[in-house]
Amino acid sequence: MSYFSHLYCPKCSETYEKNQPVNLCKCGGPLLVSYDFKNGVGFNKEELKTRPENMWRYREMLPVEKSENIISLGEGFTPIFSWKRLGKHLGLDNLYCKDEGLNPTGSFKARGAAAGISKILELGITEIAMPTAGNAGGAWALFGAKAGIKTNIAMPEDAPEITKTECAVAGAAVYLVKGNIADAGKIIGEGAKKYGWFEVSTLKEPYRIEGKKTMGYEILEQMNWDPPDYILYPTGGGVGIIGIWKAIKEMKQLGWIDGEKNPKMVAVQARGCAPIVRAHERGENFASEWTEPKTIAAGIRVPKALGDFLVLEAIRESGGTAIAVSDEEIIKAIVKTAKLEGIFICPEGAANVVALEKLLEKGWIKPQEKVLILNTGSGMKYSTTLNFDFPVMGKNDRL
Ligand SMILES: *Cc1c(COP(=O)(O)O)cnc(C)c1O
Ligand SMILES: [Zn+2]
Repeated sequence: MSYFSHLYCPKCSETYEKNQPVNLCKCGGPLLVSYDFKNGVGFNKEELKTRPENMWRYREMLPVEKSENIISLGEGFTPIFSWKRLGKHLGLDNLYCKDEGLNPTGSFKARGAAAGISKILELGITEIAMPTAGNAGGAWALFGAKAGIKTNIAMPEDAPEITKTECAVAGAAVYLVKGNIADAGKIIGEGAKKYGWFEVSTLKEPYRIEGKKTMGYEILEQMNWDPPDYILYPTGGGVGIIGIWKAIKEMKQLGWIDGEKNPKMVAVQARGCAPIVRAHERGENFASEWTEPKTIAAGIRVPKALGDFLVLEAIRESGGTAIAVSDEEIIKAIVKTAKLEGIFICPEGAANVVALEKLLEKGWIKPQEKVLILNTGSGMKYSTTLNFDFPVMGKNDRL
């Protein structure tokens, strides 16, 4: 059922056998999953039409080998909406949004957790540990609960409240850290070593990205195999953008899409934490750590990413770019998008809206081009980001 063949390191090209628990390569690089689909008869894009509408419809290109190990809460195959009113407002003919806020646990992190937890169950691992900005913790704790896997989670003290509750209600051990996600990562790393927990930090295991790459498969399938000119992605650890680009390369190898035309990948970050943007502008292959990361968009408050070189490569190979936006602009964009499109998007998704506006102004994106934005989560998970004043009425007051 799966074409999973082996793991490989994109940094030094070392390969590893599948079906053994591994974290990083000997060289410290992240490991990626390789598939062998030379004998892949019976799996073509027509076949997909008969399959259930969730991310497991691409199961040949996912790492889980036995279907009984799949832990699913209904993730994936989220709708792509045409944003006509916002598009018109910005002067763009073809604007689309894939709404990942409709996933279980309210963010696209459900995809990574579904793939990761399922594979971890298959490998016989029983206890895991991770740092999180919030959404990943919520997703892994809940999927972990369904799989009967114990989770240990550390997150910044100021992570969105609801994500702390998600972890706690799922029975995870939750630790709040006076620091950022990198600080939480150091604490988890040491704890994992001490207690023998399997570390599932971003890109420290090879399977989360496989779940996230299904966004790429879906975008192409749902757009009838005609890729958008641009995909805008709010970039933190970069798993989503690396995953979507991996999916596009796989679909080319599968012969599902034309080798010539591909979407340009745009990494969007917050001005208060933009290591990828800085590195891209300097033409560097790696991104140095951002000191004192600060933004309301918690999911992209990642000062240093293990996969930085892969994000920068995806931008370069696809002909894309990287751009940073401010928190004030993000807040305005949340409200504007809700008023025009009826969707309460998350701050990370709103960063894309601002980035689009800027790239149109610069003339880098043209009015007739086709743009797809990922709204990576639901605005409802960020209950304290917006503050409205309401008139308060007594029972006997009248309008
Ligand atoms: C985690 C997260 C991101 C960043 O995703 P990466 O794949 O780590 O770059 C963006 N938006 C939301 C809502 C997130 O939770
Ligand atoms: Zn290596």
